[in-house]
Amino acid sequence: MRKLILPLIISLLFFGQSLDAQKNQPTIKAEPAFWWVGMPTNQLQIMLYGKDIAYSRASIDYSDVKIQKQVAGDSPNYLFIYLEIGRNVEAGMMEINLKNGKKETSILYELKNRLSSTGRNLGFNSSDVIYLLMPDRFANGNPNNDTVEGMLEAADRTIPSGRHGGDLQGVQEHLDYIKELGMTAVWLTPVFENDMKTEYHGYHGYAATDMYKVDRRFGSNEEFVSFVKACHDKGLKVIMDMIHNHIGDQHWWMKDLPFKDWVHDQSVYGNTNFRGVVGSDPYASSYDTDKLQKGWFVNEMPDLNQHNEELAFYLIQNTLWWIEYSGVDGIRMDTYVYPYPDYMARWAKTVIDAYPNFNIVGESWVETVPHEAYWQKDKEGEGDGYNSHLPSVTDFQIHFALRDGLTQNFGWDSGIMKLYYTVSQDRLYSDPKNNVIFMDNHDISRFFATVNRDMDKFKMAYAYLLTTRGIPQVYYGTELALDQTQFNGDGYKRADMLGGWPGDPRSVFTKEGRTPIENDMFDYVAKLTNWRKGSKAIHDGKMLHFLPENNIYTYFRYTENERVMIIMNANEQEVNHDLTKYIEMLDGYSKATNIMTEQQLSLDEMLKLPAKSVSIFKLNE
Ligand code: CA
Repeated sequence: MRKLILPLIISLLFFGQSLDAQKNQPTIKAEPAFWWVGMPTNQLQIMLYGKDIAYSRASIDYSDVKIQKQVAGDSPNYLFIYLEIGRNVEAGMMEINLKNGKKETSILYELKNRLSSTGRNLGFNSSDVIYLLMPDRFANGNPNNDTVEGMLEAADRTIPSGRHGGDLQGVQEHLDYIKELGMTAVWLTPVFENDMKTEYHGYHGYAATDMYKVDRRFGSNEEFVSFVKACHDKGLKVIMDMIHNHIGDQHWWMKDLPFKDWVHDQSVYGNTNFRGVVGSDPYASSYDTDKLQKGWFVNEMPDLNQHNEELAFYLIQNTLWWIEYSGVDGIRMDTYVYPYPDYMARWAKTVIDAYPNFNIVGESWVETVPHEAYWQKDKEGEGDGYNSHLPSVTDFQIHFALRDGLTQNFGWDSGIMKLYYTVSQDRLYSDPKNNVIFMDNHDISRFFATVNRDMDKFKMAYAYLLTTRGIPQVYYGTELALDQTQFNGDGYKRADMLGGWPGDPRSVFTKEGRTPIENDMFDYVAKLTNWRKGSKAIHDGKMLHFLPENNIYTYFRYTENERVMIIMNANEQEVNHDLTKYIEMLDGYSKATNIMTEQQLSLDEMLKLPAKSVSIFKLNE
């Protein structure tokens, strides 16, 4: 006779509380903790974790749900069950029975109804401007969660690379600042739990110790959902940062790996060579490819083996779970070129097939345009047949071109020629307008430092970023000309926003709290972004550019109804500029409006270009 034991409510276990239903009853953890009916994919993997659970066989009696297969881990404490969820399955609590010889137990697993997709999972595109911020460094809305008992690292703002206590509530309290700056999307560096040792410093979020849990020092899972909703209510999209290449060495898996090959063996492959270029190199050695793909990111970041099918399924499903659960609009995938390319393509295709309006940008930090273009989906031309299915890449080439363009002297292949050469290779991309473009981010020098604190050049970079093709991304603080010239290391280019912490001497979030330079920059960026919102020519218009001459680079963005002329004068002095050579683009237009000064000018006059400037004109008939 079947003995029914009080079922465990798994969803209660999910948020870190373990609950033994009875003294002798083993705790069983399930991931994901719940799922939905009517999902685009009808397969569900449930990873069950509990003492000796691998010796059990699962059975389910729930209408239109079938068990397809069960896979025991190398560790006896894992059982992976794969379910087929039929079209007509109704939401409810599903009982999973587990039988091991004469021992029987059961757990309850919730299948929820999906929320309406209206206003969620919106994707992002070239009409957006993305604001990249680090939750630990932006604002501390809740000082009570800075240090959480039982977690390894306490907050200490005096350590540049320590945890500083910023959180989701802090970001949420400053959404008006982000909106006023003209941003339309927010990309948060990862919010996953990073319960890493103090000496490692997991404030950045790239060393996940639980991929189903928001770090409690940022907030709870529920707070993340509220945060996304609050952003949507303000018309801001949310981009979630994910990492499938590696985890943190304090991840709970590391104490009891599900399979021997769950992570790559560091004693064999060592650490990665960080050379993303190897991934698309037709002559790459196995030695280099193995180092890239199987080497650990650093000693504290074990490298995941996505060729373990149970892990691959787990990771893909983790993404679908977060999209469905939180309503986020897009994903930025960290270290896209490090994992196995076939796995990343499978992941991207599954996500986009499930959420067709969604967008994904992969971090593709490589050295040249052909290397970069390799990682965007549907690339053209003769190659190895690889299709990444990745809609968007992080366009490091625009960053390099801006850096060189504004710091080198003008020459045959230097200075602003770099900007020209870079976009003139756009034929190699399948969809260059979908590239995410930036002057800096959390991994590279603040651009104000790169241009040696030259305000004119700094503004030129913004004007270029917000008018060339692509999806601009602004790194928090760079809108205020934060720099890192007096500092060294990652912790410094990720400095706190002043005013985000109680007791800060002033607040950059208010006009009164900002210095004149900060206000000048803030107003400049806000004016550009808010103008850009209404310009279809900048969003999806065509581009036509002229070979730079005399250190002046001119390009046009245009649609049938709108034409914008952008002239970059990289000279150290004012120039009187003759527009005659642009006749093919000016024909039919007699006047132009400078969108920053709102001054009108006649197109048959010489144009005065200020020293080190970018002038943006909307043409009028
Ligand atoms: Ca806090």
